[in-house]
Amino acid sequence: MTLTNSDTWTAADSAALYGLDRWGDPYFSASDRGHVMVQPRGDRGGSLDLVELVQELQGRDLSLPLLIRFDDILEDRLERIHGAFERAIAQYGYGGRYQGVFPVKCNQQRHVVEELVACGKRWHFGLEAGSKAELLIALSLIDDPEALLICNGYKDQRYIETAILARRLGRQPVVVIEQADEVERIIAASQELGAAPLIGIRAKLSARSTGRWGSSVGERAKFGLSVPNLLATVQALRAANLLGELRLLHFHVGSQINDIAVLKDALQEAGQIYGELTRLGAPMGYLDVGGGLGIDYDGSRTASAASTNYSLQNYANDVVATVKECCAPHGIPVPTLVSESGRAIASHFSVLVFDVLGAGSLPGAVPPRQNDEALILRNLRDTYAAITATEVAVEASVEALQEAWNDALKFKDDALAAFRLGYLGLPERGLAEQLTWACCQAIAERLALLPAEAVIPEELRALPAALASTYYANLSVFRSAPDTWAIDQLFPVLPIHRLDERPQSLGSFADLTCDSDGKIARFIDPAGRSGRGQVKPLLELHSLRAGEPYWIGMFLGGAYQEVMGNLHNLFGSTNAVHLRLKASAGYQLDHVVRGDTNAEVLEAMEHNPELLLERLRVASEEAIGRGQLRISDARRLMAHLEASLRQTTYLQS
Ligand SMILES: *Cc1c(COP(=O)(O)O)cnc(C)c1O
Repeated sequence: MTLTNSDTWTAADSAALYGLDRWGDPYFSASDRGHVMVQPRGDRGGSLDLVELVQELQGRDLSLPLLIRFDDILEDRLERIHGAFERAIAQYGYGGRYQGVFPVKCNQQRHVVEELVACGKRWHFGLEAGSKAELLIALSLIDDPEALLICNGYKDQRYIETAILARRLGRQPVVVIEQADEVERIIAASQELGAAPLIGIRAKLSARSTGRWGSSVGERAKFGLSVPNLLATVQALRAANLLGELRLLHFHVGSQINDIAVLKDALQEAGQIYGELTRLGAPMGYLDVGGGLGIDYDGSRTASAASTNYSLQNYANDVVATVKECCAPHGIPVPTLVSESGRAIASHFSVLVFDVLGAGSLPGAVPPRQNDEALILRNLRDTYAAITATEVAVEASVEALQEAWNDALKFKDDALAAFRLGYLGLPERGLAEQLTWACCQAIAERLALLPAEAVIPEELRALPAALASTYYANLSVFRSAPDTWAIDQLFPVLPIHRLDERPQSLGSFADLTCDSDGKIARFIDPAGRSGRGQVKPLLELHSLRAGEPYWIGMFLGGAYQEVMGNLHNLFGSTNAVHLRLKASAGYQLDHVVRGDTNAEVLEAMEHNPELLLERLRVASEEAIGRGQLRISDARRLMAHLEASLRQTTYLQS
């Protein structure tokens, strides 16, 4: 028997439960039909039904798991960042402008970087590179002579010479000195080539920081120049006649700044250093505030790890106002403001949809009565009867439920002891366990019907979690959401359909890998009892229906996940598509990026798929010769192997 609450459940209830109306705004919402809707242009109109979209993509033979990239969202994020800075500049009467760059390391995929460069042209939006390969991307994709190309990271002579020569191509590379010894290489390269790059300096700020990336600042930070090094660098540039090329001061306080106070401290410190560099005779002109603009993953608007206690507009206001305050007293012209926001630009636009292959849960049903049941089993049946006899939705019955649960546990322990001593057989032990779970299930169902303010003992409160199911997900966490495993990152996860149905189960996800870490068992908790910004180990989910798919969306994962993902168990990249809303209606598929095939992941490990097949062909011929394999079965085996090599690494439904 399943008790159901007579009140109705709507998609709006799901939106609140999963926080969709908080972190999803303005791009994701729930329709009355209970589907996740995507508004790729934010609040400027147009929407797509994510479920219909997935169905149509499957019709094109694009199987799940599927990464859907909404390029309109990418563009909307760019517009929002520029809009926020433009408003702040107007509000504070800032006498300079804003000119951003995208840190390529955040998502190096060709179609993503190309899209950003194309959309960003109207603001002379540039790129930031942290390695030679990223520099190559940035140099060849940016053809706007006004766009900045910020060169960070460790640099050898070739990197520096490349940047100097690229200036002759009409690009604007700024070589940022991150390590004390880089200035010597810049001087040497400039003398060798008789030309200099635009130069920046990264300051190691002493400002305190918090959160996961807090160690990106402070005296022991990996990058940046301490004040003595900074002054020595200025001396060296002056001596080499290169101080006239020092244009930019850079700092970066770490990713996902949760607390705006951290940024304010850093801005003040950097603002003073900027003024000092001007007084020392550098022409300057640019202040690069780095990345770190955070994402509100759980929609709680708090300084907790998965959130931020500020909005995009707060951020822009603080940058603009603080820099102005630092420059004004000294009569220094305000700099062009540069930021290197990666996460804040690239998180929203990609949605990962995966299917659930099945669910495992503890048996909650009551097993049929056997003849001559042992006393322990009869006791458990009586306990179950007592539970189902309690009055429903009355707080007074809690005591009886607690008593029944104590009894059930006692009888289960008795059953175990009897089994160990040889008095109870394995089938009886199985029945005892089944009956105990049936008691647990019946109690949990009754607790769910109590009024919200009812006082429930902690032990009983934990019962629904004990009944939780494991949902088997057609995905590799290590490939598609590595930060959930590596750094306990939270991404919003929810079913993309059935949102108009009350979810009746609690569960977590297990992925396809043979690794016990391959799971998603930490979720945002927008409606948490203990307040906002909390984490819960189980998610409200629906029971699976035979013959019907159950599709789950993982949101806000467009930054860092793809490149950090690995080939654990040889699960490769998923299928990915780029799409845009059409001006009229509907959408257009701009790019389809097929996921890695099994042959490709094998080759990545230096295996030769053809050779592997050939060996198996020989082995099957031998088996045929020995009479152990029929020719028709051999043909079937080879056909499966060949088909698998051509297919993606995920399960086909
Ligand atoms: C990683 C990085 C960024 C991007 O940081 P986000 O938190 O993604 O905005 C910007 N600048 C530098 C120097 C970085 O290392």
